[in-house]
Amino acid sequence: MARHKEADKRLFGNVFVCKVCKAKRKADPHKVKSDKVKCRKCNAKKLRPKNREIRTSTGAGAAAAATKDKKKK
Ligand SMILES: [Zn+2]
Repeated sequence: MARHKEADKRLFGNVFVCKVCKAKRKADPHKVKSDKVKCRKCNAKKLRPKNREIRTSTGAGAAAAATKDKKKK
């Protein structure tokens, strides 16, 4: 599947994921940085951007390679 940078930005640009309960939250990145945005479910301020390249912890090997291949094209 082709990935479009602009579509990515539109879809994931302002979406963050709670590190505690994994809830998705759409928010302004600046607000997230300054801790003004809390998770709806658990009120945690630990949010990470949804579009962070690859999940680094679980089985990233194959997925990472595949993603890199796509980018080169
Ligand atoms: Zn949460």
